[in-house]
Amino acid sequence: MNNKKKKPTVLTPDKGKPTLVKVGYRDIEIEWISPDFKLDELTDCFGQYKSREGVIQMQKSLCGQEESNTLLHEVMHACVYGAGLNQAEGPLKEDNAEKLCMHVFMVLDLTRQKVL
Ligand SMILES: [Zn+2]
Repeated sequence: MNNKKKKPTVLTPDKGKPTLVKVGYRDIEIEWISPDFKLDELTDCFGQYKSREGVIQMQKSLCGQEESNTLLHEVMHACVYGAGLNQAEGPLKEDNAEKLCMHVFMVLDLTRQKVL
């Protein structure tokens, strides 16, 4: 199987969609992109944070809850990176950073469900 990822196409965001988020001192641009990660077998995630470019790429075709969960997850990645937690001398390796982003999200989700 060919696992090479196609470069996504940046689309015009729908009205009301965020295009910028400030994380610490840094403005992070939010790009809304195709292809459809859900349907395209060459892609395996709904969003990604590109630290060097300061960009979060979000799949444009996500539904509401997937979209907010994904955006929150990617903002968490930007927070971890911005705080230096997963840089060379930082305390988190990439796997740990991923777990942290998942777990913080789960706590926020419990809050949203009014469990906490
Ligand atoms: Zn992640």
